[in-house]
Amino acid sequence: MTRPYRFLFVSTPVGPLGSGAGGGVELNLVNLARSLLEKGSQVRVLAPEGSRSADLPEGAIEPVAGFPPAYAQSQRRDQPVCFSIPSLLANLWQRAAQQQDQFDLVVNWSYDWLSFYLTDFFRTPVAHIVSMGSLSDAVDQALEHIAHRYPGRLAVHSRAQAQTFAFARAQMAAGRDPFVYLPCGVDLSRYDFVPEGNGSLCWVGRIAPEKGLEDCAALAEKTGRPVLILGHLQDPAYWQQIREQYPRAQLDYRGFLPTSQMQRLLGQCSALIMTPKWVEAFGLVAVEALACGVPVITYRRGGPAEIVRDGETGWVVEPDNVAALARAVEHLDCIDRSHCRQHAEEHYSLQAMTERFLAWSEQIVRDPIPAAREGGDRQWYY
Ligand code: UDP
Repeated sequence: MTRPYRFLFVSTPVGPLGSGAGGGVELNLVNLARSLLEKGSQVRVLAPEGSRSADLPEGAIEPVAGFPPAYAQSQRRDQPVCFSIPSLLANLWQRAAQQQDQFDLVVNWSYDWLSFYLTDFFRTPVAHIVSMGSLSDAVDQALEHIAHRYPGRLAVHSRAQAQTFAFARAQMAAGRDPFVYLPCGVDLSRYDFVPEGNGSLCWVGRIAPEKGLEDCAALAEKTGRPVLILGHLQDPAYWQQIREQYPRAQLDYRGFLPTSQMQRLLGQCSALIMTPKWVEAFGLVAVEALACGVPVITYRRGGPAEIVRDGETGWVVEPDNVAALARAVEHLDCIDRSHCRQHAEEHYSLQAMTERFLAWSEQIVRDPIPAAREGGDRQWYY
């Protein structure tokens, strides 16, 4: 039995919790915090000013001020690390450093070089939930250092995500995997199973180039099916460009909705379409769709392709191929929606995610400064 622990969560700085700017990280963080609190653990969340969640008790979120860093997705790989001052990221970690002795474990939810770099300077162990694949040389180097110096401190969400890191591929080839795997889960009681779809397609996510919404618009034109679009409008110019490029596509954009409303609309649709242009680390929306009984059609790329069982809970098709998406849409009748729900229940419950997280935390807390791996404690230069 795991004893209750005291967790200090350091949220992503890209936007306040509840804004949608943080993508799946926001739902994962809030769900996990709520679930841990219910199990008797203590959780405090350091998060950008303006963060809110009806699911966490008053005072659980401590607001921190400052300018957010740029999105890692929109930067070059070799982009120098830079911050606008006052830096939200620096302020989050300063607060974490001040409070660390009140906690058993600090949990980093951000994908920023500074968050990884600071691991060496904390007395309380810092565990990292790495939310994206490899995008930055600086982050890769910091992760490699943590993997070497503090084995077991890095969690990823999927095999595909892990494979994007060159240092991890090299270690795996030598028989060592530097990552702990933490697939995400949702509170299934908050998703209603809908036995039949209404013929429309659905696309859910941040509206940003790496999400590939243009392929779904092309699919809408090709099939004549309307597409319901839900999510945070991160890149308005990109959205405008899609609307101009696909004028005949019936795209019904409803904005970023709370989970309760989002799942109600999503559940009525015949399929969720996922068209990522990057290696999606996980793709929480795939699990949310399955929880409603909605089959998922996705490219064979990244986390969603690991979640969907081809021909059973949806279709996994050749990446960037709109004709293949259209063929899959024609075969939606072959998918039994109750299998979709069942698959989510068996593999992606919040309960299962919480247990995986607690088992991981327990390992770290029990053995906070593990011996450096073979080869000695090599000097790192940043
Ligand atoms: N989401 C939401 N309301 C919406 C659309 C999306 O709450 O109207 C949430 C969704 O529940 C998921 C997140 O936005 O938690 C998208 O996460 P995903 O992992 O799919 O992609 P990311 O943005 O992290 O790359």
